[in-house]
Amino acid sequence: MAKISSTQYEPVFDLGLQVQSGQLKANDAIEIVTKETGLNKASAKYCLDAVLAMPKGVEYKHTINIPATKYYLYRFEDSLTSVQFKFVLQSVDKHLEYYVAQGKGDQVTIRTLVDSYRAKLTLQAVYPDEVHEQTTEFTEGAVKQVTINAYERDPKARAACIDKYGSICKVCDFNFEAIYGSIGKGFIHVHHKVDIATIGKSYQVDPINDLIPVCPNCHAMLHTGKPAMSIEKLKQIIDSSNT
Ligand SMILES: [Zn+2]
Ligand SMILES: [Zn+2]
Repeated sequence: MAKISSTQYEPVFDLGLQVQSGQLKANDAIEIVTKETGLNKASAKYCLDAVLAMPKGVEYKHTINIPATKYYLYRFEDSLTSVQFKFVLQSVDKHLEYYVAQGKGDQVTIRTLVDSYRAKLTLQAVYPDEVHEQTTEFTEGAVKQVTINAYERDPKARAACIDKYGSICKVCDFNFEAIYGSIGKGFIHVHHKVDIATIGKSYQVDPINDLIPVCPNCHAMLHTGKPAMSIEKLKQIIDSSNT
């Protein structure tokens, strides 16, 4: 494939999101890219195919260059929850398998990149909600739980919450860095305080009022009830068992 530059493959990502949400037709997106960036039609189509396939976890057949793949992974990691991002990695895996099966050799740089993203995902903590999610059938209730997970894991909402409250448990004051040193720095769970039953379709998470940093132990205890117990209630329980 001809050499393509960042000014050509980057706009495809945002146009691809518009195609995905039904705001734009694929052919129109390709036309915009070819007109505005000078990218040839075939390359524009291959880039768009990849952007559309990745979040669905399906294979794309045409190899896009290393910088473009890197950029799309970077953008998806930034905008998706870790559960959704796993599909993106799956899609790239499938492409790599296809490429090898064609006898074209291995794309070592991309494979290494996918492996490092995957390692990063497994380092992230398992949340109590996630455990429920894995054992629950795919009912409407389970769908709601997936949504809740997304709020608690949403990187931007998490960051805003930790920015405001710090990474010390708001129930028991546990400080990972104080106990574990540098490996514990910044480690904390973020709990979503809003009862799922009260959430409407247009709900938008408020990282300051709806999220709260808690340690994994307190997080698990909060989720022993449904809806989850309040922060105040759990604090009272700790206080009464300590006296
Ligand atoms: Zn705690
Ligand atoms: Zn929680």
